[in-house]
Amino acid sequence: MNKLAIMKVACNKCLPLKQIEIPDFTQAEKNRLLELTIQSAMLSIKYITDNYAVSYRDAKFMVNHINKINGHCNRCNFEKLEGEYIECARCEALNFNWKKANLHEKHVYSNNILVIHFSNIRTSSHAYS
Ligand SMILES: [Zn+2]
Ligand SMILES: [Zn+2]
Repeated sequence: MNKLAIMKVACNKCLPLKQIEIPDFTQAEKNRLLELTIQSAMLSIKYITDNYAVSYRDAKFMVNHINKINGHCNRCNFEKLEGEYIECARCEALNFNWKKANLHEKHVYSNNILVIHFSNIRTSSHAYS
């Protein structure tokens, strides 16, 4: 699990002059990190520092840029992000625009809880529009 390829990302908004090296996560890990991030950013940061050779500061950067709702910018209200690891067309912030994918694996962790969290977020974001 620790032998993933490394990729570099940068964010124009919070770290304009610096690139961060992050593991090129598998879809299973993206699913897991999405789920953790939605539950608790702290849990997600801890999971990354416990399982990968990533510093606390870089793990925090990563978690701050994971989109809780696919396609929605973490920083502004832009809702049409397409692709992973992209800059928002409106505010230029980096977004880890991961999409949760069903891997047909019998993971114990809680698809039901995730669905509930997603529907809560969707409901509250509708209030703004
Ligand atoms: Zn940023
Ligand atoms: Zn944005």
